[in-house]
Amino acid sequence: MGKRRRMEKRYRYISLLSDIEGMKNAIGEMRGMFFPKQPVLNQDARMDTAGTVLDEEWFIRTLTDKIAHHPESGMEYPFYDEPIFDPPLVGFVRGNDLIFDQFKEIIGPHHFTPWEIMKWQAEKNGVAPPDAKDISVVSFVMPITRNTRTDNAAAVDWPSERWAQTRLLGEILSQTIVGEIVADLMDKGILAVSPDVTPKFNKKRYPKVGWASPWSHRHIAYAAGLGTFGMQDFLITEKGCAHRLGSFVVNLKLKPNRQRPEDIHAYCLHYQGQKCLKCAKRCPVNAITAENAHNKETCYQKVAQSLKYCNKNYHIFIYGCGLCATGVPCESGIPESIQRSMESKPSGKK
Ligand code: SF4
Ligand code: SF4
Repeated sequence: MGKRRRMEKRYRYISLLSDIEGMKNAIGEMRGMFFPKQPVLNQDARMDTAGTVLDEEWFIRTLTDKIAHHPESGMEYPFYDEPIFDPPLVGFVRGNDLIFDQFKEIIGPHHFTPWEIMKWQAEKNGVAPPDAKDISVVSFVMPITRNTRTDNAAAVDWPSERWAQTRLLGEILSQTIVGEIVADLMDKGILAVSPDVTPKFNKKRYPKVGWASPWSHRHIAYAAGLGTFGMQDFLITEKGCAHRLGSFVVNLKLKPNRQRPEDIHAYCLHYQGQKCLKCAKRCPVNAITAENAHNKETCYQKVAQSLKYCNKNYHIFIYGCGLCATGVPCESGIPESIQRSMESKPSGKK
């Protein structure tokens, strides 16, 4: 049974103080604290993977199974046991892909390459870091369910309760299942690391990009060919932009399974010269405009204020918004007119 299951039949009292996992999650995300102990590499098992073939299919199967059936995979009261997510999309990108050097320039030098974070894990375990060509990043998209999307699409100022729960429980689920996979691989003698639950992870304001973390699941998912960016900076995938993302690094050569569009805005109607800006109309604080795209600072201020609202009304410790990811043409898929034009070009998305 998951650790939050005890709230099965009621809201928690004095939620500002009693939602301990929520508080830990929020502080961890901002400050790189309260993460579980890193698993230790089982060096005796280095050549032995107990007969399991750890290929792309294994990762897709394992993630899909855990997202559907893990004890932490259900919503809380009053939506007890509804699923948090639909089945995931999973993609792979090799550690020596040149895009990671570009991220150093686009996002900033603080953003880790897969090799840098793997080096940290290798040194912690007293082994030599593997070559960048021998490591891969596994990236996954967890699409938000129709119930939650529908609720949030009806919201006009603050996130719906299902959305707020998804933001918190989905993050806990994601960190838990990645932690289990990483621990399993380390036990099999394969170096692996989940960058966003290491002490290296904390969010800061950076000159070029404003609030940012040293490991962006969103950019990693783009690198793995899982989607492209919209006006609101969310990643538009074949399951839309209403989702949570995760990623981790493994010392295995996994084959990329999706073609990455060169145009980082390939699936956004506005950027492709078509009428839209529905996300801008959905934003209660005008953080999205045709002239300046997404103003991260204005957005951040609104999202930070939502903590009080969610706590008071939904009895959990979480912030969020996502109004611009729901009630929009890219909510649950690539907009239809863009799909049609991709289908007419044989070199488009796989
Ligand atoms: S709502 Fe329209 S303009 Fe905004 S990200 Fe989606 S497709 Fe682009
Ligand atoms: S997430 Fe940010 S940009 Fe999107 S609607 Fe909310 S405040 Fe506006």
